[in-house]
Amino acid sequence: MATVKLTLDEARDLAFRCLKANGCDDDNAAASADNMARAERDGCASHGLFRLPWHVSSLKSGKVNGKARPRAERLAPGVIKVHGDCGFAPLGHKVGRAPLIEAARENGIAALALVDIYHIAALWPEIEILAMEGLAALACTASHPYVAPAGGKKPLFGTNPIGFAWPRAKKPPLVFDQASAAMARGEIQIAARDGHKVPEGAGIDAEGNPTTDPNKILEGAQLGFGGYKGASLAMMVELLAGPLIGDLLSIESLAADEGAKAAPRGGELIIALDPARFGDPQGFLAHGEKLFEAILAQEGTRLPGARRYENREKTPETGIAIPQSLHDTIMGLMPPA
Ligand code: NDP
Repeated sequence: MATVKLTLDEARDLAFRCLKANGCDDDNAAASADNMARAERDGCASHGLFRLPWHVSSLKSGKVNGKARPRAERLAPGVIKVHGDCGFAPLGHKVGRAPLIEAARENGIAALALVDIYHIAALWPEIEILAMEGLAALACTASHPYVAPAGGKKPLFGTNPIGFAWPRAKKPPLVFDQASAAMARGEIQIAARDGHKVPEGAGIDAEGNPTTDPNKILEGAQLGFGGYKGASLAMMVELLAGPLIGDLLSIESLAADEGAKAAPRGGELIIALDPARFGDPQGFLAHGEKLFEAILAQEGTRLPGARRYENREKTPETGIAIPQSLHDTIMGLMPPA
């Protein structure tokens, strides 16, 4: 596959210019472009520049507000709400972060409820940054109905990811971030684009038959990971990122889209915990390390997040490579220089 090599700065600048050319103001474009560049830096192509065309079509649909002014409001000592003003999520995260950290330090635990946002990114950026502040953090968000309930044939849940971050002394945080679907939708879309099959168990066709053809899954439904267990986690995320915080279920998000094919509008819940306020403020970091050492003592293991951190080390030297076709598409979304 023909590729175009970019430095990280070039990738960020390309995303920024493209978002600006399609209706974002500086703050919104910068927050989302930085998020996409961070995904590229860490080798997460499905949330990097690959997402730019969908950002643009979502802006053009009139659903996403490129000039959103997210606003934070403290609803209770440990509950912060960010009204996203129908913008992309990264600027809402920026606005909510400081009040969330402050409330978590005051109370030991605090939640950030982001509503009226369009979240089409990974979760690790917003929780890793909290763990770098010494907090443990959990996040989840819903999307559009892509995943069938256990035993069902029709999409109902989003691919509903759950992320968790734990602080480490003198090391990057321990972070896992995973869809409750067997495969992230972006990976299925990339497989469809590149003509690859996907593993069995990723989804079913429109008639409910198992298939490894990503195009048929995109017409049918994805499946939860681990059968009914993944489906239950997806259901939990629907409740936490929807009814709990006064935002949409995935089925409601699709209805609200009215056929515009924009990114899913919905909510995100982030819970931050300050370990210094719980049972073992002096010892929790070393105690956690004991677990990580025991995991890594077994051959064949690695910690979640390790792949990203390795890529993060390398990328400033190697740069990133995106498909020529994606680069052409992005250039076509901007007026000629
Ligand atoms: P993966 O299955 O690729 O990875 C899930 C997690 O498992 C990662 O933290 C990964 O770490 C870790 N991991 C992978 N292999 C191992 C291993 N051998 N040992 C230990 N840990 C391992 O992710 P998904 O495909 O499920 O999700 C991809 C992304 O898509 C996520 O960032 C998610 O937030 C995002 N997403 C976003 C949605 C949205 O609506 N905004 C919807 C659904 C998904 P590492 O990164 O180091 O490989």
